[in-house]
Amino acid sequence: MIYSEYGRTGAQVSAVGFGGMRFDPSKSNEENAQLLLYAQSRGINYFDTAPGYCNDTSEDIFGIALRQMADTRDRYCVSTKGMPTSIKTADKARRAVEKSIRRLNVDKIDFYHVWCIRRVDQYELAMKKGGQYEGLLKCRDEGLIDNIVISTHLPGPQVENILRRKEFEGVLLGVNILNFPYRWQGVQAAHELGLGVVAMNPLSGGLIPKHQKQLAFLSHEGQTPAEAALRFCLSCNQITVTLVGFTSKEHIDAACRIAEAARPYTDEDIDRVRAHVSENMNSLCTGCGYCMQSCPENIPIANYMQIYNEKPLLGRTDREMQDKIADNHIWGLLMDRAADAGDCIECAACEEACTQHLDIIERLKEIAGWEKKLNSRSARFLRLAKKAKGKLQRLCRL
Ligand code: SF4
Ligand code: SF4
Repeated sequence: MIYSEYGRTGAQVSAVGFGGMRFDPSKSNEENAQLLLYAQSRGINYFDTAPGYCNDTSEDIFGIALRQMADTRDRYCVSTKGMPTSIKTADKARRAVEKSIRRLNVDKIDFYHVWCIRRVDQYELAMKKGGQYEGLLKCRDEGLIDNIVISTHLPGPQVENILRRKEFEGVLLGVNILNFPYRWQGVQAAHELGLGVVAMNPLSGGLIPKHQKQLAFLSHEGQTPAEAALRFCLSCNQITVTLVGFTSKEHIDAACRIAEAARPYTDEDIDRVRAHVSENMNSLCTGCGYCMQSCPENIPIANYMQIYNEKPLLGRTDREMQDKIADNHIWGLLMDRAADAGDCIECAACEEACTQHLDIIERLKEIAGWEKKLNSRSARFLRLAKKAKGKLQRLCRL
């Protein structure tokens, strides 16, 4: 395993980080906890979780494992998070930190994130007088937290603006081989400022493994696109830790194997990939699901956006997209939908929540057009079927 210093914190952290957001829900907490112990035996020493992950079981799973890892407390780092939109005061920030410490069974939290900053006003909320950041500073003074860091989905220039204020020791952000041009300015700025950079979502929410054929151009030296994508994050000098959401020991082995074999990406390599990644690739839905709670009409936004991905990614025609939507109505992502794309009332709540800043309303309008054509196709089909049935009945009577 490769280790490097997280910014200027003195903490030596592994290039592969354990992301605690993909535990197998069919397994018990105790079984899932064994994955952390296995990861530690493979050299991973950065463990990242958050309240709410995996139906709010992730911190408990971590707690089971970290109790068993108590003898090695000085050899691993644990990271968790709190959202300023729900933790609005310094007192609440302290209570959230204490709660996480209890659940995780640790003496302190090594990296605590001001979490999920999707808009600048959310950052400002965290920083306001008497707000979350002030509470976290007190926790740091009292030894409950070692480092205050930020997790954000903002575009690169806005990330840079925030980091230049020197309030955080590092940044966690969704960056991968497909979307990196969108966030690279933030990554580069963090690196130049001597801050730690943790990359999440290295496989673009599963999109890269799902479209290996179409993304073959990402491959290099006999690797699959998914391996190339992991290698990209693991071997960029600017990225300190790459979080992989592990579900099995095999996933851990694969990530460690790639990390150990990874040759660093040079600036020329990065330019080569950038040249291949079109602008459209930055506007793909990663399936993170942050938009789903916001819709007053219960439209399955993430499902629709995942299907829409095929348009920019594969260059599908309108007719092909109609067929794709029709398939998904029958047996796929849209089978049990509570509402159609056309039910959107354009309140824009989902766009505010979207980590990729997608123009969801426009996309839903386009999809609604496809669904409308689909409905008129089905209506025509039903009319023809009715006509044929009538003819058949008349023939039978003759
Ligand atoms: S803009 Fe449309 S899809 Fe988005 S939250 Fe509002 S109603 Fe739902
Ligand atoms: S639409 Fe945006 S917020 Fe919703 S799942 Fe896709 S990327 Fe995430």
